[in-house]
Amino acid sequence: MTGIKFPQKGLPPAELKSLLHDLKSNDMDWSNYRAFSMVFRAGDDVADIVRSALAEYVFENGLSPFAFPSLLRMETEVVAMTADLLNGGGTAAGNMTSGGTESITMAVKAARDYAREKKPAIKEPELLMLRSAHPAFNKAAHFLGLKTVIVPVTDASEVDLAEYRRAFSPDTIFAVGSAFSYPHGIIDPIGEMAAVAAEKGVWFHVDSCVGGFILPFVEKLGYPIPPFDFRIPGVMSMSADVHKYGYVSKGASVVLYRDVELRKYQLFVYADWSGGVYATPCISGARPGGPVAASWAVMKFLGYEGYLRLAADAMKATQILIEGINEIPGLYVIGKPPATNFGVGSKTLNLYAIGDKMKQRGWHIDSQHLPPSLHFTVSPMHLKVVDKCLKDLREATLEVSALKPEDITGDAAIYGMIGSMPDRSQAKDITTQYFNDLYKTG
Ligand SMILES: *Cc1c(COP(=O)(O)O)cnc(C)c1O
Repeated sequence: MTGIKFPQKGLPPAELKSLLHDLKSNDMDWSNYRAFSMVFRAGDDVADIVRSALAEYVFENGLSPFAFPSLLRMETEVVAMTADLLNGGGTAAGNMTSGGTESITMAVKAARDYAREKKPAIKEPELLMLRSAHPAFNKAAHFLGLKTVIVPVTDASEVDLAEYRRAFSPDTIFAVGSAFSYPHGIIDPIGEMAAVAAEKGVWFHVDSCVGGFILPFVEKLGYPIPPFDFRIPGVMSMSADVHKYGYVSKGASVVLYRDVELRKYQLFVYADWSGGVYATPCISGARPGGPVAASWAVMKFLGYEGYLRLAADAMKATQILIEGINEIPGLYVIGKPPATNFGVGSKTLNLYAIGDKMKQRGWHIDSQHLPPSLHFTVSPMHLKVVDKCLKDLREATLEVSALKPEDITGDAAIYGMIGSMPDRSQAKDITTQYFNDLYKTG
């Protein structure tokens, strides 16, 4: 990447178009439904709706609700539709953000400012989370000056409620449960966890970033899903990503509060700028109109019935995968995932090597650690490929069963090494250096 200078002369559009296309040649191929993360797919009809909404709103700026009242209207409608889906309808309030991380950051910010007002004696506020909760909470805590307190989970990715209760301190101002968690797809016992938080007077958030737009439909289909949303009294805020099971392209999420009074703590207003009164709901200033329009359009296009149909396919695909994987000697699905995310563990085999073998066969399956596992997020379109996936996974597993430890090289070896380092600060340092090199520009 050395020697890059600002271009002197421009390129013709046709050349640029083909350059852009060619640049993708080494990218993960998600078009063939062989990716189990990164891209959520609902079908070409939905993709066309997304593309046309993005194109219609490609230059509009969500910063000013006065300049673009259409974006204000679509954002509030998307928030209201999401609130209705998550049983906060009528009173819940919120905003659209750029993604799960921003939604989570806004909820943590609101809770922090709420605690500053209601419990001014707390000087070092704490955020309580399970090991399986998303690192966006660690990141938000880091940015907002909160200390994180991490509660471990069992091998089945479950919380010990007594241990969770003991982890509260007089400084706890925020606690979170996932519905469901990203790594293993487990729904935490939200009712019990929220009740403990309420008893302690602590803000409780439900992270439904990945589950928010599928769990309500899975529940409707008759699968056993415990209540996880605003039906539970102690739930103060929720996050739900439209750019996951809402099937919209990246840049779309919803943060919700039980009522407008709580949402107040999310806003930032500066009234003394020479540029005018500056008020924003989220971290971003200028905001792209496209993701708002695309979210609105896909919800209107699919409707409840469309999402329900897609959830049925995703569940069918998941069940075929889970049953098939549990029959492969050496592999097992971790815990009891109730919906469409799950992790695969092994007591005997190197899972990262299995992941590599799958990659050679064109599948993209993420590696996870503590303990090692492979990750599956199942989209409705996977129903087309589950049988082939299981066949390849059986072969890959058999090949890895025949390997000796010293035969395992490449990505699997490196990932395993970093994952098993006892000194986690060393793992952090190595990753920092690695990232610094990765994004080198000169
Ligand atoms: C994806 C995810 C997040 C973070 O969302 P981004 O859109 O990647 O910022 C947070 N929590 C859970 C459970 C998620 O699955």
